[in-house]
Amino acid sequence: ATLTTVVIRRGNGAPLVAPEELPPLNHFIDGTFVSAAAAASTAIINPSDGSLICRVPEGTAGDVDLSVAAARKAQAGWEATTPKERSELLLRIADRIEEHADVLARIESLNAGKPLATSQDDVAGSADTFRFMAGAGRALTSMAASDYAQGHLSIILREPAGVVGVVTPWNYPLLMAAWKIAPILAAGNSLILKPSEQTPLTTLKLAEIIADLLPAGVFNVVTGLGPEVGARLADHPDIDLVALTGSVNSGKAVATAAGSTVKRVHLELGGKAPVVIFADADLAAAAESLRAASYWNSGQECGAACRVLVHESVAERFTELLVEQVASFVIGDPTAGEDVEIGPMVSEAHFRRVSGFLERAREAGITAAIGGGPLEGPGFFIAPTVLTNVPAGAEVARDEIFGPVVSIETFTDEDDAIARANEVPYGLAASVWTKDSACSLDVPKKLHFGTVWVNSHLVLASEVPWGGFKGSGYGRDLSIYALEDFSRTKHVMINHGR
Ligand code: NAD
Repeated sequence: ATLTTVVIRRGNGAPLVAPEELPPLNHFIDGTFVSAAAAASTAIINPSDGSLICRVPEGTAGDVDLSVAAARKAQAGWEATTPKERSELLLRIADRIEEHADVLARIESLNAGKPLATSQDDVAGSADTFRFMAGAGRALTSMAASDYAQGHLSIILREPAGVVGVVTPWNYPLLMAAWKIAPILAAGNSLILKPSEQTPLTTLKLAEIIADLLPAGVFNVVTGLGPEVGARLADHPDIDLVALTGSVNSGKAVATAAGSTVKRVHLELGGKAPVVIFADADLAAAAESLRAASYWNSGQECGAACRVLVHESVAERFTELLVEQVASFVIGDPTAGEDVEIGPMVSEAHFRRVSGFLERAREAGITAAIGGGPLEGPGFFIAPTVLTNVPAGAEVARDEIFGPVVSIETFTDEDDAIARANEVPYGLAASVWTKDSACSLDVPKKLHFGTVWVNSHLVLASEVPWGGFKGSGYGRDLSIYALEDFSRTKHVMINHGR
């Protein structure tokens, strides 16, 4: 296929979401939707056709202050609940998500342009996160007690961190919210969440459908822009911990602002995942896996398998196999059926950004074996792309593109592969493809990434930790480690006189 033969499948024009299915377009503070203090609002755009969906308030520092006061007021009562009580509430939240799965998925697809199957997967993953944390939170309250000093009994308590500020991105709006809300609540914290200004609708819908379950003030949503609402969450003196999933630059801004109040920081930032394919690998299996792992969510995925490093002896064959996979994608808007696999970029700005990477690559002499540029609108579609002849250090091999683009580089031997995989400033995820058991055990240890898959890529489960090294941030989502990150350790030592 070439660019001219790529067809964007369109729906029949029937609306994906009825106006009355949208959530209230206001902040959710202290258990109710409240009118925003300021009149400014952000246009929420449908990326499949560029049309206006609605407008959502741009919150102010004052809105954040109100929500922090509500969370602080609620915190004492919330942290006094037992893990079992919190667990039961989390299970009810999971039930509500499942009861509203269809509308949540459709709203997500409308707002983020995701294929319906992708949104449905996000909703199922969100419910599962709440179910996992409902159970895991009950195991967290373990204490270690012993006589470590003569005549003294030590009790080690795990306490909630307190009031938590959360900032989420646009690529998995509901899922990234769930990844934070579930462990934060399970560990006994209250929170204020700022969704991405581009994709706030499913977070507001979640607030609407769980509003009656939680005590007022325990969970709050303030919509708005990063430098206003997000920045206030980061520097607010009465917030104990701030968590952000987003770009490296936003992470740096949040960590710097949080420093002014010595606040704890939890960062999940960008990625540039290398896929190291050795000569003995099952190439067909690797190509088939990358069909999903590279292009899932149209490549707008921090762990996407976007940078292939393949042994030079099998590079040509692997490229052919991957191109074959990419040629069969169904590209379309979410109203065009549940078999659509690739949707648009989330926004016009992001579409231009991804197009710019492809244009500069072409100018630099890099070849597109398939795809290679934007598709005719309406909507912000980019053709699924495989780039070959990519020299070491090329921009497309170094920077996070965050689109449906895979670059292919070759390597000569194992040391070369490891050094090249590690050379990016990111350290979120990587994969290794080989049939050699020694190689599959040893190479992951040498890769500086928070997750390393062997003969797989992008497979996740609520039980396993997700988070980065280096520029990809610190802190872990999912698993028992997220619960630890959102709690704090206290030592009580009792002199019992014996
Ligand atoms: P972004 O950094 O532009 O925005 C993320 C959030 O941060 C938004 O809510 C935004 O309003 C807010 N923000 C921006 N500036 C801020 C500031 N100065 N202070 C506080 N908040 C601020 O990122 P994005 O474009 O929405 O998302 C894409 C990025 O997120 C990619 O880099 C991707 O790799 C990363 N991401 C990482 C993970 C992970 O688990 N590691 C998951 C999803 C996305």
